[in-house]
Amino acid sequence: MKSDIEIAQGAKMKPIIEIAQQLGLGEEDLELYGKYKAKISPEVWDKIKGNKDGKLVLVTAINPTAAGEGKSTVTVGLGQAMDKIGKKVSICLREPSLGPVFGIKGGAAGGGYSQVVPMEDINLHFTGDMHAITATNNLLSAAIDNHIHQGNELSIDVRRVLWKRAMDVNDRALRQIVVGLGGKTNGMPREDNFLITVASEIMAILCLAKDLMDLKERLGRIIVAYDLKNNPVRARDLKIQGAMTLLLKDAIKPNLVQTLENVPAFIHGGPFANIAHGCNSIMATQYALKLSDYVITEAGFGADLGAEKFFNIKCRYGELKPNAVVLVATLRALKMHGGSAKDVLDKENVDTLKRGLNNLEKQIENIGKFGVPVVVAINSFLTDTQEEVKIVESRCKELGVEVALCKVWEKGGPGGIQLAEKLVDILNTKESDFKVLYDESLSIKAKIDIIVKEIYGGIGVEYTPRAEKAIRELGEQNLDGLPICMAKTQYSLSDDPHKLGRPQGFKVTVGDVRISAGAGFIVVLTGEIMTMPGLPKVPSAEKIDINEKGEILGLF
Ligand code: ADP
Repeated sequence: MKSDIEIAQGAKMKPIIEIAQQLGLGEEDLELYGKYKAKISPEVWDKIKGNKDGKLVLVTAINPTAAGEGKSTVTVGLGQAMDKIGKKVSICLREPSLGPVFGIKGGAAGGGYSQVVPMEDINLHFTGDMHAITATNNLLSAAIDNHIHQGNELSIDVRRVLWKRAMDVNDRALRQIVVGLGGKTNGMPREDNFLITVASEIMAILCLAKDLMDLKERLGRIIVAYDLKNNPVRARDLKIQGAMTLLLKDAIKPNLVQTLENVPAFIHGGPFANIAHGCNSIMATQYALKLSDYVITEAGFGADLGAEKFFNIKCRYGELKPNAVVLVATLRALKMHGGSAKDVLDKENVDTLKRGLNNLEKQIENIGKFGVPVVVAINSFLTDTQEEVKIVESRCKELGVEVALCKVWEKGGPGGIQLAEKLVDILNTKESDFKVLYDESLSIKAKIDIIVKEIYGGIGVEYTPRAEKAIRELGEQNLDGLPICMAKTQYSLSDDPHKLGRPQGFKVTVGDVRISAGAGFIVVLTGEIMTMPGLPKVPSAEKIDINEKGEILGLF
């Protein structure tokens, strides 16, 4: 097989205007960013808002291993396969962050013959959304420090500034810093931190905003600090939400690109899947639903985090009604869940595979709790054996769940026809009875309890004194009536990354609880969550290059 970039560079892209025409849009509906990328003009909404919604399909996965389970690859490939069987389909994905591109190798635009293109642009500056989000984040930081410098009328407690600066490069040296050094003219010294841009609350807000005015409202609601009397200080107290919204006026418009097989793909917004909800923007999904009969979208990490937050946060705020779920599993990951070591996954091992199926079973059960029909997709690797595939197929049959072998990485759309046909069959015959898992007005602890017991399969929750205090304070300030955004390891159903398969009898420890008042969720932290990654010893950046002809090399 060729590398991802070799395949992407060989793509026969159509001008983006033609891709838009497939959706019934004309050139006047687009804001062009060169020949192959466009944003959708905001005026389009008035024209299409009366259209009937297409069917919404979420692609999610079992708990991943370090390699990734191929959710993006299956999302893109399934879209291509739906197109091959004559369906009007769009794909909705997240925008990649620059951090991982130059850090550890790993595509964020699908893989093999199921990728979105122009792959290099999508992975680099794309249409500038990341930069706009970075600038907006840092404008707010500057406003906070300037307010303190100019006399601090709001009595901001410099020890309790919650808002952090942001940058879209992995840089561990910026995790913990001191700003305002150098004397009186340089502001008030205080401790600060940098986040990677995709971890900024601005990103989560952009993805959950319904429109420009909702965006402004949410930006104004951000709690940036506490004052000396312990009251929250919000961005709107600094009168900065208008300028922040202005900086995002283009970033809020959904981006349109295409797959290797010229299927329309909306790629818009890319929040972290731990401290944020890990899905593309509500606006992109809504445009896609109005413009196509089927929308295939993806949520980050495994179903215990990704799907749970897609349903309980994104669908709640976007009033979206998902019609089906595609649950991706790889034999490699299932074998790891059953006890195989990482370096022997290429070899057949029926025993560990059978044992590891319990992770898949739990995720199937969980999707059922939301009332959405599910089909399992086995993302096929060249090393898989027929015997192993049969084991997964027969277990799914016993559970009464449809399953399809999916070869979209190797073959593109034609490798996903079986999955596409099964999906269409389910959409035509099984009604989704979608419901969120909890009422947001419940107490914070009650909501966490439901997620831990129902979704993770835990027996209870323990809270550190810090978490207890944070929960008490949010309750006292009437800030507790929001959905929960769990920040947990993606590798296990529990909060311990080493407990693979289907762990039993465990408790989850909540270390801290924070509010993202603009995004509209309460972040519950279990364990250390890294919001500014570092670079590895040999970063991918060392292999990435551009030659005299402008050809890009080494980008996966
Ligand atoms: P996820 O969305 O779950 O993180 P991706 O779709 O981004 O995973 O895939 C992660 C990596 O695995 C990519 O480099 C992709 O090319 C590769 N990959 C995905 N599916 C396959 C497959 N069936 N065979 C070989 N490599 C694959």
